[in-house]
Amino acid sequence: MPTVTIPTSLESGHPGDAIRWAAEQFGTENLVVTASFEDAVLVHLAATAVPGIEVVLIDTQYLFAETQWLVDEMRKVVDLNLTVLHPKVQPDNLWQTDVEACCGVRKVEPLNRALVGKQGWVTGIRRVDGPTRANAPVAVFDPVRNLVKINPLASFTDEDLLTYEQVFELPVNPLRERGYPSIGCWPCTRPVAPGEDKRAGRWAGNAKTECGLHV
Ligand code: SF4
Repeated sequence: MPTVTIPTSLESGHPGDAIRWAAEQFGTENLVVTASFEDAVLVHLAATAVPGIEVVLIDTQYLFAETQWLVDEMRKVVDLNLTVLHPKVQPDNLWQTDVEACCGVRKVEPLNRALVGKQGWVTGIRRVDGPTRANAPVAVFDPVRNLVKINPLASFTDEDLLTYEQVFELPVNPLRERGYPSIGCWPCTRPVAPGEDKRAGRWAGNAKTECGLHV
């Protein structure tokens, strides 16, 4: 892709500024948002900043019913240009024996398809998600994928997220109030205890901390 100069002002601007900048820079057709629907903030932000922007949900075949509920609710809130990508494999029990391989075929491979031909990738990464994301910039060139990764919510705290949901009266994934601050596939997500790290319920009992999408 052509050389891109990322404005330093994106770091301190409104989250929507980063998405609008990317749309102007690359064109909406070369930009994609990936959303897990753990919450509705990224999707609302992107769909209002750049109407018609493509949002991709990777349906691993093991999503919680509550996550699907949030997808349906958000279709009522914003004009959602949603693409749902599925893995090329059928449901199996690979998650019981090899979570790396399971995430590889159910998350990473569909993501690779979603990013084909794209120059900008908008994600919901936040620095407060955990140590592996603590230094995430708002926008950065990813030399491995040869695109610009935009993390408009990088500086959002949990309080910022709640405030955004309240201001825009967004639906909330029902799992949150049941102790799931971080939500992935049902076989690999458990609720966390008060005071526990918010991602402690992901692949609990396993050294794995990331699904492979953001490495
Ligand atoms: S989170 Fe679990 S079930 Fe989902 S793709 Fe990864 S290993 Fe498989």
